[in-house]
Parts: sequence; structure tokens; C-alpha cells
Amino acid sequence: MSQWQKTNDALGTVNRGNPCESGLCTLCRADCQGKCETWLSSMKGRKMLYPRDFGWVTAGSANTEHIGVSYNNLRVQGYVFGANNLPNGITNSADDCVFPNVSTETEFGGKIKTKCRLPIMTGALGSTFIAARYWDSFSIGAALSGFPIVVGENVVGVDKKAVIENGRIKKAPELDRRVDTFLRYYDGYGAIIVQMNVEDTRNGVAEYIIEKYGDKVILELKWGQGAKVIGGEIQVDSLEYAKFLKDRGYVVDPDPTLPEVAAAFKAGSITSIARHSRLGYTNRNSIDEVKKDFMGAVVYLRSLGYKRISLKTGSYGMEALAMSIKYASEAKLDLLTIDGSGGGTGMSPWGMMESWGVPSIHLHAKAYEYAKLLADQGKKVVDMSFAGGLAKEDQIFKALALGAPYTKLVCMGRPLMIPGYLGANIEGALDPKKRKEINGNWDKLPKTVTDIGSTPEEIFACYSAVEKKVGKKEMKDIPLGAVAVYTLGDKLGAGLQQLMAGTRKFSPVGISRKEIFSGNRETEKETGIPFMTDVGDDIAKQIIKA
Ligand code: SF4
Repeated sequence: MSQWQKTNDALGTVNRGNPCESGLCTLCRADCQGKCETWLSSMKGRKMLYPRDFGWVTAGSANTEHIGVSYNNLRVQGYVFGANNLPNGITNSADDCVFPNVSTETEFGGKIKTKCRLPIMTGALGSTFIAARYWDSFSIGAALSGFPIVVGENVVGVDKKAVIENGRIKKAPELDRRVDTFLRYYDGYGAIIVQMNVEDTRNGVAEYIIEKYGDKVILELKWGQGAKVIGGEIQVDSLEYAKFLKDRGYVVDPDPTLPEVAAAFKAGSITSIARHSRLGYTNRNSIDEVKKDFMGAVVYLRSLGYKRISLKTGSYGMEALAMSIKYASEAKLDLLTIDGSGGGTGMSPWGMMESWGVPSIHLHAKAYEYAKLLADQGKKVVDMSFAGGLAKEDQIFKALALGAPYTKLVCMGRPLMIPGYLGANIEGALDPKKRKEINGNWDKLPKTVTDIGSTPEEIFACYSAVEKKVGKKEMKDIPLGAVAVYTLGDKLGAGLQQLMAGTRKFSPVGISRKEIFSGNRETEKETGIPFMTDVGDDIAKQIIKA
């Protein structure tokens, strides 16, 4: 049974399904009518930082008993004096040191620094259809908010309109769409990152992007993800499409060219066929061989002209974790995303999701340990992004602190998708003519939305802020899903500002491991973050004795 609560009376949230540590349901539906914290925050924004019905209630936290090892069992340490890492123009006066003056701006990268307004990024949104359906919302929302978005693997390979000849892409309309929508609203903050797996490498994605977009795009090499230990999968419900994917070189299961599969498909006992990606480095048998291959790939990408390259690794064991940190650092990559088990995706084998790999907090704690070992040898450590089941502002803060000073970003997959489809559902209900085109799932607004409002201006706390940013005329082209992404980002940013002000760190660069402590001894042992009443205990005793 889940230890995470399905309802939160203080915030007035209810999960549609079974919640996990992130606060999201184990199964998150694009047609969901609510109302978890992320769903409601995508409309109400920063109001969701507080208990509901102010003036008529009092509220108290039940989260004081800490069992097991999880991000939930790290607590944030506040300080009673001081103000550190003040942004330009802010003094340490009480009038200046208010939480709205906290900067959430960060940057990552080796030679070239990529600036972000918020220390978050999306997970890789690739060939899974939910990513394609709501891409405009995700990418425009990310660009307006100023955080990086990742185009996941296989986007070209599954695109029926893409033309690939002799390992070279001639046309890739879906990939173009993904990059172009972001760049249209890009204003110097955030980034568009395109991921490349085995099939993408074969198809010539790297060569295509550099020719078409130059260094506007960051290229991401992929070793894995937290949700599964095999490559990315999708399901298709057409035999013809499955055959097309097989011809494109993918592993499709069951094989659509077998007569018995075709017969079962026709009879209706098989309704979909899975498309899988290949494993990497299958012909390599040692750490040294992998390193040689990896370094060679980076040298090749640099020779093509890539100035910014990142690596994404999954929740493999400690050997692969150390390899990723060491090689990404030696290759002077710009970012390493470390994705722990517990994070979700659209289609991973469920038993695998439940049982493979290293859960996020354990993986991230070891990532810090290995990064520090490298730094202690005088080596520069690659900037890191932690991923896997992180959705709320306190989780962002704790992940940044746990991996400090190496973590610059927190990577969030499912949470940043919820506002995308929620916004499309609202837009489709308000404008039925658009519904099909934008993949809206509702005929009319449900009560969970009309309780908030019945027009975009009434529903989204940040509608006016987005309108101010892009102008009234352009606002007509902004999907409501993007407004919802912006609204959620605003809430996460405000929550982060509050936690940072309380820890007296007025810029993300100041966040250190001293800003958190462990809620139980087990978490202390696994993370190296001291138990809460041990921290400062010696100073406390000196104060008492003085
Ligand atoms: S939006 Fe997703 S996570 Fe939230 S309640 Fe609905 S199904 Fe659950």
C-alpha cells in the first residue's frame, strides 16, 4: 500500500489514482478532471502554496514522522539570521531581503553558459504520442518560463513524413516542428535539447540538426532513463504503421509481418504492437571500451560543430553512475542528467518500473559522493541535473541541496506535462472547433475547473502575466496549455523563493548541503546528510554553556 496520501485536506487536493512520492498518481491521464496539487497549481498558481479557505481555517502538518529513505525524509533547515548570495542591487536590509527578491536564475555548462530563469528542465519528451500531441503547450510554456526542454529519442524515426536516405535525413518535419516552436518564443533563457539514441545516431539526427540549426540546439547522448532498463518504447495500433517502423529498422513486438500476428490483429485479440529501441554498447565488454566509444562520439559531435553536449543516464548501478560522471566531466560536457528509479514515463513495462534500478535519493546521494571524489582530486565536475519523481518546490530545493554544488537543475518529466494537457482540455471545451486539432479531451468544463472560473482569464492565475509578456496580438497564438505550464512554473518558482529566503540563500548558487537535514537515521546513513538534531548541536551546547 502506498504511504503517500490520496487527499490533502489542507490544500483541497485529491488524486484521481494512487499517489506516489512526487504527489502524482502512478497512472496520470491526459483527460483527468483533477485534482492533484500539480493539476490545481497549473491553474491557481502560487495560491496553491497555502492551505485553502484563508480566514476560516487553521492548518497543521502531519508530516513529522519520517519512515524509510526518501526525499520526503529530508527536511529543509531554516536560519534565524543572515542573508547570503544576494542578487545584484539587493542589500542585506530587511526591506530588500524579502522572498520575492530571491533570484531563481541559474546557469549550466562548460565553456558556454546556458541561462535559465528557473532551476528546472523537462524530461525527454520523445516519440511517445502524448509528447507529440501537446508539444506546442510544453515547448512554448518552457520558452516563456525560461527553462530547458528536451526532445526525446526517436522523433525522426517514427515520423511517417520524415525522409531518410542512406543514413541521412532529408526531411524531418516533426523534429523541425519541435525545435521551431521553442525557438519562436526563446528569449535567451532555457534551451532546446535534442536527445540521440542508437537509432537516432544511425538515422543521422546529429548531422541533420547541426546543418539546420547550428549550435542553437544542445545535443544529448543517451545512456538510459530511470523508468526502464531497455530503450524507449511506444505502442502503435495499426499493423501498417508497425510494418513501417520495422522497415525503419526498429524492433517491433510482436512481429507484424508474421501471418499469425496479422490474423490475431484482424480478429482483435492483438490490438497494439510495441516498438522498441536498441540497447547501447552491446558489442563492448569493458569499461575502457565504453569510455573509448563515448569519448570518440563526443569528439565526432564536436567535429560536426556542436558546442554544447549533454548526457542522460538512468538508474543503473554504481559502476555506470561513476562512468557517467567521470566521462562526462573528462569530455567537458555541459550537463549530465541522472534519472533515478521512481520517475515515470508513458510506456515502460510496469514490473520493470516497479523493480529495476536505484531509487532517486540513493542514486543522487552517491552521485554527489562520486562528484566530490573527482573534485577533491582537483578535477572539474560536470554540471548535473537530478531527475526521478520530483515534482514540487520542496523536492526541487532538496535535490539541488543534496547534490550541491554540482546540481544546477532538477529534471521533471510527468509534472510539467500535466499543465500541457489540462490547458488543451480547457481550450478544447471552450472552443469546440479547435478541440480535435489540439487534442482536447473534454466537451465541457468540469466542476473542478468551473469552481475556479469559466474563461481563460478567470481560470489561469498567470494568464495576464503571459499576455503582458507576449502582447495581446500574439496571445491568440499561445495555447492555454502553455499558459498552464507558465502558471505551474510560477508557483514552483515562488515556492522555491520562499524556501530559499528561509534558508537565507538569495540565489541558487548559494544552496548547499547545509540547507537540509535528515528526518531519520536511515536517511542520514544513506545520504550523508546529518540527522536534524545533530546539526548544530555542538554550537547549541556552546551557546548554552557560555
Ligand atoms: S493530473 Fe494526473 S497525477 Fe494529477 S490527479 Fe490527475 S491523473 Fe492524477
